[in-house]
Amino acid sequence: APAIVKPIYFFDEADGKNKMLLGGKGAGLAEMTRLGLPVPPGFIITTEICEKFYEAGRRLPDGLMDEVRRSISRLESLTGKKFGDPQNPLLVSVRSGAPVSMPGMMDTILNLGLNDETVEGLSRKSNDPRFAWDAYRRFIQMFGKIVLGVDDRKFDSILAGKDLSNPKVLKDIAMSFKSLCEGTGGKKFPADPYKQLELAIDAVFRSWTGKRAVEYRKQHNITPDMAGGTAVTIVTMVFGNMGSDSCTGVVFTRDPETGEKQLYGDYLINAQGEDVVSGRATPNHIDSLVSEMPDVYQQLLGVCEKLESHFKEPQDVEFTVEKGRLYILQTRAAKMNAVAAVKTSIDLYHEGLITKTAALERIDPEGLEQILYRRIDPHVKQKAIATGIGASPGAASGIAVFDVAQAEALGKKGEKVILVREDTKPDDVPAFFQSVGILTSRGGKTSHAAVVARGMGKPCVVGCSQIEIDAEGKSFSVGGKKVVVSEGQKITIDGSTGRVYVGEIPTVEPEISSEFKELLQWSSEMKGIKIRANADTVESAALARKYGAEGIGLCRTERMFNQHDRIMQFVSMIMAENEEERRRALAELEPLQKSDFKAILREMNGLPVTIRLLDPPLHEFLPKEEDLMQKIFELKSSSAKPSEIARIEKILHRVHELSEINPMLGHRGVRMGISFPEIYETQIRSICEAAAELAKEGVAVEPQIMVPQVGLVEELAAVRQIFESVKREVEHRHRIKLKIKFGSMIEVVRACLVADDIAHLVDFISFGTNDLTQATFSFSREDAEGKFLPFYLEKGIVSVNPFQSIDRKGVGRLMKMAVDMARKEKKDIEIGICGEHGGDPRSIEFCSTAGLDYVSASSHRIPIAILAAAQSAI
Ligand code: PEP
Ligand code: MG
Repeated sequence: APAIVKPIYFFDEADGKNKMLLGGKGAGLAEMTRLGLPVPPGFIITTEICEKFYEAGRRLPDGLMDEVRRSISRLESLTGKKFGDPQNPLLVSVRSGAPVSMPGMMDTILNLGLNDETVEGLSRKSNDPRFAWDAYRRFIQMFGKIVLGVDDRKFDSILAGKDLSNPKVLKDIAMSFKSLCEGTGGKKFPADPYKQLELAIDAVFRSWTGKRAVEYRKQHNITPDMAGGTAVTIVTMVFGNMGSDSCTGVVFTRDPETGEKQLYGDYLINAQGEDVVSGRATPNHIDSLVSEMPDVYQQLLGVCEKLESHFKEPQDVEFTVEKGRLYILQTRAAKMNAVAAVKTSIDLYHEGLITKTAALERIDPEGLEQILYRRIDPHVKQKAIATGIGASPGAASGIAVFDVAQAEALGKKGEKVILVREDTKPDDVPAFFQSVGILTSRGGKTSHAAVVARGMGKPCVVGCSQIEIDAEGKSFSVGGKKVVVSEGQKITIDGSTGRVYVGEIPTVEPEISSEFKELLQWSSEMKGIKIRANADTVESAALARKYGAEGIGLCRTERMFNQHDRIMQFVSMIMAENEEERRRALAELEPLQKSDFKAILREMNGLPVTIRLLDPPLHEFLPKEEDLMQKIFELKSSSAKPSEIARIEKILHRVHELSEINPMLGHRGVRMGISFPEIYETQIRSICEAAAELAKEGVAVEPQIMVPQVGLVEELAAVRQIFESVKREVEHRHRIKLKIKFGSMIEVVRACLVADDIAHLVDFISFGTNDLTQATFSFSREDAEGKFLPFYLEKGIVSVNPFQSIDRKGVGRLMKMAVDMARKEKKDIEIGICGEHGGDPRSIEFCSTAGLDYVSASSHRIPIAILAAAQSAI
């Protein structure tokens, strides 16, 4: 027999832990009801019914509406009101609620149960015709939009300029709204409350596969086993718009931006929920409630404390006060920015609410990137043109775009876009993903734009009322027409301070808080695998050390040659016609390199520093062929000296000589090091000399020399010979013993296959997973991400970008095999990874289990790597 499915649960009978069945909203209401908090009575249609709805081809299961009728009867007896009763009507809200929080993603209908008759009853009962008609016109608008698919803007244009304090006007509006709906749908607006309810339930289920919801799930990797459908929650209406002793608001139990333990949020007197969320009106700060409704404030404070200690997690709470009585309509884990997530983790631990492990686990390592965001350089003299409310931190520069579709299109093309709107709606979410920042002229910290941007970690400034947006004309102005910014012009926003600037403003590294330090400290203690940095400048090395890196895992030497003061010398080295000339050019480069290495080794103060010998093909350092041709053309037509023309022609000739059909599979890395051994010899000497000189100064140093692109042990043996002879020579000259490890990158497939032979010759190996991924898939890393990978991701051919997160099945298997072979050959061989994957939390987890000694991540991502490493050790 088929398992009996109970389709409906009342709040007081449901298991509030079962979010999978009840959805987050329903579960929260059930749990709060159990805690004895003031929740209006209501019931939940489970997510199982949503699945059945889709199984049946988008039809409500047979018998469901009978169950709903029975449940409404129970609500009637609980409230003493009657559904559809013209004297004392019961009104309900119909809300969606998925097992995973999807804020602003799904639709809610308020005041359901109103029609031309019940509205009169509500009017008499409340003794407030204005309130009753306002509730009715809101219902028609929401129902029209969500269920009947009427364009929201049509309602707005009917509303524009109307006196909403006059009940007669509101009645006219309600009637116009109804005609609008009937005109659009060609059907009578349903007056029967049960018909309304049936259509609303149907619409909530349908919204599960609406564009916004699907997009959100895709972006957040929410799979069907995490959330198979939405529940529908039906709650007795309570009204925040019943006069000056009523209000509605949203409160966070802790500040979601700073993590401070204080109530944070806004409310609006005499308003309904959507007024706050839509950002259409500017609400009051929750602190004013202390004086406006002192008793309610105290009660709310108590509720918040109870919720926190129960859920052991800061909460985001929706409340309504109806004629002085507080009701809680929703609670969910507060979405916080990374600063707040870190602070609350530390605080909740010290308050004894959670363990250290739980404190670490509740922080998303990727989210930390937000804290590590750059800030506007405080030395910048340029003045902001306007200041709004900083709603999601970080500074972002981009071109101003006023249209949602345009922002989406430009963003997808790779443009840095700042979306500028009066306010935003859930429909705008796809454009958020494609923007680097969001600026709105209206709304508060809990407006839609603010909440969504915070969730995504995108810089956001809201309520910037100084800017006047002309959406049609695609521009905004400040101070009359003093400053006008048109579409495509660069602006910078600072989501921490709320400031808005014209142009691209320089930024600086952020400060790190004591809580953040404590978090990194805990993580460092808990993690197994070591964390090193990919760094090739002193600044980057210093940053890595500040964040707690345990060494440098990859110092790419080519970047040192590409600097303006040495590129000329490097070019003459490439232009050399024979070994002797080449050696002369190299001799000039040697002291420059030595000083670079000394600076970095000194900064790292005894921590290992892995320096990689030159990798890219030489032609990369020469000008491009077409530029040279252009130059020659210009010189010839401007009667330049023949010697100058000859010089450029010679470079062009060399470019031709060096050109390759497939340079990335060509004359590079160790291959080049073998054809021009003097290049590697010079680099090795610079490293040995740097180490010797520092050692003599008493500075602790631990350089490691790493050879790129090795596929044959014979290649490695050749370089090893150079290494040993140079090292001996330097040791002899300085009368000192050098401790320098010699190692190989593993980034060629063949290197994985002969990892035992390689291990035999080296002290360490380090996986270059960028090239290894390229080689394993035969995907060009330069082109794949721009050309076909997006399609692969969209079609589900790959579930993650293998250049971002290690492909465990293929690349990962090669790595494991290489690790096993290498360790069998040499038990204590040091093994690391220095591809970009070293900073990716999922890859870090893989590397920990694969038995690597360290991961090396870019300096900026060190804290992310440290936390991810700790989480994979828990
Ligand atoms: C790699 O290939 O993973 C690597 C670290 O080297 P690069 O990115 O410089 O090729
Ligand atoms: Mg490489």
